[in-house]
Amino acid sequence: MSPPVTDLAPTSIQAYGAHAGDQPLVPLQITRRAPGPHDVQIEIAFCGVCHSDIHQVRSEWAGTLYPCVPGHEIVGRVSAVGAHVEGFAAGDLVGVGCIVDSCQHCADCDSGLENYCDAMVGTYNSPTPDAPGHTLGGYSQRIVVHERYVLRIRHPEAQLAAVAPLLCAGITTYSPLRHWKVGPGQKVGVVGIGGLGHMGVKLAHAMGARVVAFTTSASKRKAAFALGADEVVVSRNEDEMAAHKKSLDFILDTVAAPHELDAFVKLLKRDGAMVLVGAPASPHPSPNVLQLIMRRRTIAGSMIGGIPETQEMLDFCAEHGIVADIELIRAEQINEAYARMLAGDVKYRFVIDSASLG
Ligand code: NAP
Ligand code: ZN
Repeated sequence: MSPPVTDLAPTSIQAYGAHAGDQPLVPLQITRRAPGPHDVQIEIAFCGVCHSDIHQVRSEWAGTLYPCVPGHEIVGRVSAVGAHVEGFAAGDLVGVGCIVDSCQHCADCDSGLENYCDAMVGTYNSPTPDAPGHTLGGYSQRIVVHERYVLRIRHPEAQLAAVAPLLCAGITTYSPLRHWKVGPGQKVGVVGIGGLGHMGVKLAHAMGARVVAFTTSASKRKAAFALGADEVVVSRNEDEMAAHKKSLDFILDTVAAPHELDAFVKLLKRDGAMVLVGAPASPHPSPNVLQLIMRRRTIAGSMIGGIPETQEMLDFCAEHGIVADIELIRAEQINEAYARMLAGDVKYRFVIDSASLG
């Protein structure tokens, strides 16, 4: 075990972020606090690029604070720990997802569901005592995080870049699949085969379900089978959709834009549930209530996952050899990567190589 570190100074590091919603991301210099007694200081190796980063940095969601440094799919190595940290030591491979703090004593935190704590501090864009007054994310060289929110990575180091997207895309799909008890004997739909959706297909398949991938992109048909889908439906094709009427136990909708929900609700069996994780900037058209009433169907939402569940997901993925399918980019390619994500041109997650920031 390395000696505990308590006397490091705040450090100035390189990052990528935006000064306004209508401006591209540019290189920035930011400061990270010195590790406190319960903090873990992490040298970031890779950071995944989530569609939420685009929504937030472009002010598509309310309340973006600038400068905005996105990034909440962080993996790297511990470089220092505070005096009271017992679970981590310098050199450990770790991850940080969407949460860097919470109240630590409410019913949600006590249940390990820090993601639903009213005082949850997001990895970026949340108030913090650290400069500049709000959190700054993983498009950067280093981060300092309370030990409670640091995850252990058990995958081989060679897979580290492809593990990064598990910290958001992985847990956001794993959590509802587990909560709604998806497993063998069930037919499960995943709508939108992007960063989240491709993880949803892999995870539902690994949990033993029969998986139907719904995509607007016919070009993804072959690749969706390779991800673990048993059937692939091009959702713009009415005949292909109709073939699945009243047959699905569960649907996970990851689409990043408003769209008709009814077309998918109709595919649920009696008592089936459709869970929305996609968070478009403007609302979906209202679903037809009769479609829900007539077969006791449910529409629900789900937000990322708690810290214990995130560790469980990482361990499940390590055990089953699951990682994301990624395209590694340099930090200066981020604006081009955003444009390609908006055009649906990514298979299936961009990951920033943090070495390119130095
Ligand atoms: P992504 O990689 O861009 O994938 C979104 C997919 O949605 C696309 O690949 C596309 O799949 C489908 N799509 C269909 N029509 C679209 C349109 N008009 N615009 C954009 N996408 C369209 O995004 P992601 O990173 O997976 O994130 C998806 C959504 O989940 C975002 O809204 C994000 O903010 C949200 N999110 C929510 C949580 C949560 O906790 N609930 C966590 C993370 C992210 P096809 O080509 O297969 O149709
Ligand atoms: Zn995310």
